[in-house]
Amino acid sequence: MTVKTTTHILGYPRIGSQRELKFAQEKYWRGEISQAELKEVGSLLRHRHWGEQSGAGLDVVTVGDFAWYDHVLGTSMLLGHLPKRHRSSFPDLDTLFRVARGKAPTGCACAASDMTKWFNTNYHYIVPEFSADDEFTVSWPQLFEEIAEAKKAGHKVKPVLLGPISYLWLGKEKEADFDRLSLLPRLLAAYQQILNKLATLGVEWVQIDEPSLALELPKEWADAFNIAYQVLHGAPKLLLTAYFDNITHQLDTITKLKVDGLHVDISAAPEQLDEVVGRLPEHWVLSAGVVNGRNVWRADLSALLECLKPVKAKLGERLWLASSCSLLHSPMDLDLETDVDPEVRQWLAFAKQKCRELTLLAQAIDGNEIAIEECAHYSAPIKARATSSLVNNEQVRQRSATITDALAERKQPYEERAREQRQSLGLPLLPTTTIGSFPQTNEIRTQRRDFKAGRLNEQDYIAAMKGHIGDAIERQNKLDLDVLVHGEAERNDMVEYFAELLEGFAVTRFGWVQSYGSRCVKPAVIVSDIYRSAPMTVAWTQYAQSLTDKPVKGMLTGPVTILGWTFPREDLSREAIANQIALALRDEVADLQNKGIKIIQIDEPAIREGMPIKASQWQAYLDWAVKAFKISAASAEPQTQIHTHMCYSEFNDMIESVAALDADVITIETSRSDMELLKAFEAFDYPNEIGPGVYDIHSPNIPTVEQIIELVEKAEAQIPAQRLWINPDCGLKTRSWEETEAALTNMVEAAKTLREQY
Ligand code: GLN
Ligand code: ZN
Repeated sequence: MTVKTTTHILGYPRIGSQRELKFAQEKYWRGEISQAELKEVGSLLRHRHWGEQSGAGLDVVTVGDFAWYDHVLGTSMLLGHLPKRHRSSFPDLDTLFRVARGKAPTGCACAASDMTKWFNTNYHYIVPEFSADDEFTVSWPQLFEEIAEAKKAGHKVKPVLLGPISYLWLGKEKEADFDRLSLLPRLLAAYQQILNKLATLGVEWVQIDEPSLALELPKEWADAFNIAYQVLHGAPKLLLTAYFDNITHQLDTITKLKVDGLHVDISAAPEQLDEVVGRLPEHWVLSAGVVNGRNVWRADLSALLECLKPVKAKLGERLWLASSCSLLHSPMDLDLETDVDPEVRQWLAFAKQKCRELTLLAQAIDGNEIAIEECAHYSAPIKARATSSLVNNEQVRQRSATITDALAERKQPYEERAREQRQSLGLPLLPTTTIGSFPQTNEIRTQRRDFKAGRLNEQDYIAAMKGHIGDAIERQNKLDLDVLVHGEAERNDMVEYFAELLEGFAVTRFGWVQSYGSRCVKPAVIVSDIYRSAPMTVAWTQYAQSLTDKPVKGMLTGPVTILGWTFPREDLSREAIANQIALALRDEVADLQNKGIKIIQIDEPAIREGMPIKASQWQAYLDWAVKAFKISAASAEPQTQIHTHMCYSEFNDMIESVAALDADVITIETSRSDMELLKAFEAFDYPNEIGPGVYDIHSPNIPTVEQIIELVEKAEAQIPAQRLWINPDCGLKTRSWEETEAALTNMVEAAKTLREQY
């Protein structure tokens, strides 16, 4: 008799299949619903999501994964550990919103905390702020209330907590000469209290997330695990989880910890399974994260069954099956996607379906004959996908095989290109431009939506968009900008636009994933080999150029960003996918150029965030990412000027690779850092041209001429004026025309004033 295999997930998406949480939050922030009504929506979603987990047959439901904005901020609330400026009263829901957003319906406004990316995902968390005198007092009862709520509904619960070391690791010091790790003893006392309380609530297992274990931690941080889990050991039992990458480099530390089980990510790092099983301490549970929590593909259950059989034989009831990481990073429910091509649809599984995959697999591992057969049946389409003609395109493969280093190089070095471009473009010193998008008015959004829904015919749609392009060109001419853009009215999103036009992508209707707070993104899915069947941007750009004598900048999204902001296929390396996209973009660059477009911008804001979890792998990633960008750009003749835009990025540890992009001009977000970001470029002697953003487009404030001049002067102290451009921080699609014109008027005036001085 085999003993039953336990199944669970590390967390469920919280936003709701119709983004109910987002809409309720935003209504609450606008004062349209009460806090009680907002809380009601939260409770409704939690019940629904627990119901979906237990309905799928999971042995426990996960509690504590729900968050009103972000789970790291939720942990700060639980620990009563909030930024000093937000500590005036006992923390409540509005305190949480104030920390996250700087404001809430009640209480005074105070600067929000920083937000940053959650490991290598597109989720963003609120960064905890640490000072030497910080105290931790278990405060916000949300977790305990949710446990009671789930139990009352009849569920067997497994709460999840962000572990103490990762909580400290993810935060930052607010004071000099202070090491946040020194707060560990105080923090552990609070965790002890939380665990005691959970024990009194009858909790048997706690999932304690320590995702920092997958990083290459400094020694003192890795050592801290030992102390921490010495202290936290006891009731309830602890399932220590790590995910997103291999953790075998930490196994010496991990296997000595006083915990009761370990979860590892077998989807991101299948190669670690044998070693982890081999070294698993006696009595520990192994939670094998076999169903990918952060992609949309149906699991190959038959293959998993074969690979897990020996593990089951060895571990018996100590084997648990789980999602690789929290399903937070996966869309919610494939059942809603009625428009996706049926062949593609049977290759996919979203959060709800992934729960079912786990229970089916567990039954099969436990020897249930029907389940074994069902696994084979379920996996047949994803197996068949490997040879599907829909996926594999011989021409794309052949062309990819012709990629050489030379293909990625422009015909002349920057110095010579710059000379030719100066001649052909005739731009003034400190040329002014914008980053691409102009205000997306309600009218524009409605027209796009109507066109998609078939309420507006193609001819009328094209006429409407041309109207917006004409309007944008006229306004830019009036503003006297030097390099114009068409304004991107036809694009809902800089990646989805290309995903819809390129072959090889599927676009979902409800595949939303939380990015931060109430903001969700709907990544497209890379289903098959990618190619371009027709020009994608040429007609719009050409039309814009026909309306003006000034150069209009063509606008493309780069290969690394398109890859980074979609769900990639898993049967091809990220490098190979990026190269396919790069080749398609390369043809678009050539077409734009042939139609008289002299400047082409290839946006790559996602290069930085695509960095692997382990620092030792960064360079290999950067090398192929840079090459993919260069492949797309290198069809440009020397006199065609290639721009790139990278938003806000940490440039210090990748400046060499940024320079290696060899873009003629790079624009970046620098205004909020007061041009600090340029230091990396200065120190590296960055050779090409730079447009450091001179005002913050995230703020409705209009920058004055003086403020802009001051920033440009700071930039000029670091980069010679001959290589500087004047532009905003990023695209202007979220601003109004009124704000945009006022800000750009001042920007152009600042540039003109400065030209006289230099
Ligand atoms: N060209 C895009 C725009 O202006 C760039 C957006 C971005 O960098 N995220 O909107
Ligand atoms: Zn940007």
